Amino acid sequence: MLRLYIIDEQVLDSSMEKVDIKNLSLEELESFISGQGKERYRARQIFKWIYQKGAVTFEEMTNLSKELRCELAQSATISSLMPEVVEVSRDGTRKYLFRLVDGNTIESVLIPEEDRNTLCISSQVGCAMACEFCLTGTFKLTRNLSTAEIVNQVCAAGQDADIRNIVFMGMGEPLANLENVVRALRIITGEDGLQFSTRRVTVSTAGLVPEMDKLGRAVTVNLAVSLNATTDEQRDQLMPVNRRYPLNELLAACKRFPLPARRMITFEYVMIKEVNDSLDDAKRLVKLVSGIPCKINLIPFNEHDGCSFRKPDQAAIDIFHKYLLDKHFTVITRSSRGADISAACGQLRGKLEKR
Ligand code: SAH
Repeated sequence: MLRLYIIDEQVLDSSMEKVDIKNLSLEELESFISGQGKERYRARQIFKWIYQKGAVTFEEMTNLSKELRCELAQSATISSLMPEVVEVSRDGTRKYLFRLVDGNTIESVLIPEEDRNTLCISSQVGCAMACEFCLTGTFKLTRNLSTAEIVNQVCAAGQDADIRNIVFMGMGEPLANLENVVRALRIITGEDGLQFSTRRVTVSTAGLVPEMDKLGRAVTVNLAVSLNATTDEQRDQLMPVNRRYPLNELLAACKRFPLPARRMITFEYVMIKEVNDSLDDAKRLVKLVSGIPCKINLIPFNEHDGCSFRKPDQAAIDIFHKYLLDKHFTVITRSSRGADISAACGQLRGKLEKR
């Protein structure tokens, strides 16, 4: 069970440290406010000031009494993130590098599309999954992001553009930071929070099976699963998490994931030249996912230094894509966006740390 309504040590330090309101769910803020001897309903007002009107100080909350504003300022803060670097690609993709209070850095990527903008956010500094093709994996895991650090990526990028979709496909494995991710999801989709439709928010996982079940019980959200291989032998190699949760367990967890009507799981499949890009791979993929309402995202491998994998030839991508289409799957081959600003997962951070 997740204990989301208990203010844990990370959120409320027993020393004199101030509470960061951005680390609290609405229910937690209500407990905090009533613990201070104030009316619970004030929590809702404060939430609206922060997430809907963009308040960054208590001073701005003019419908609260001056006395309450002063008291809050003494016991709490409202954190935010300022991008240290914003790179804008020729295709409009914006890559943000945020420096956290402890000096660590994380990235978010804003991808403009015709009628909508998608924001890709990070959930950890580094990652422990160690997928063979992934640059973030080579940084290892430094730490989980706090709820505030997750939510603040959305708040910061939201100042530049109207964000329609949010995907947890930046750095880190979101389900390895489940408690903070679920709390952030509640703020992001909450009526008193950032008010994103749950249809527009997707959590992507390398396949942590028990946490997939917990996520499904805790919140309504879209799920993306990074499949990337069609046999256990190959997936063990590419994604060590497969040794813990092999394909049959992963696909069973996908089948029982509680999707609302007409929604589908997204399977991501990073295509790597002469590794997993053959027609036989496509055939096995179809067999694996048959019976699961799903769409398939093909992602041609993004090449980076320190990894000898290559992007497949366009012909191989086209044949693979067409085979899935002919089998009546919804397939998208993700075009590489922001290539000129190294917008792929972990690449801006990689560039910066190398300097
Ligand atoms: N840990 C989560 C989310 C972060 S990775 C997960 O594994 O789903 C987001 C997506 O980027 C995953 O589908 C991953 O397989 C893919 N990815 C990682 N490195 C890549 C690369 N070099 N080229 C293309 N896709 C990559």
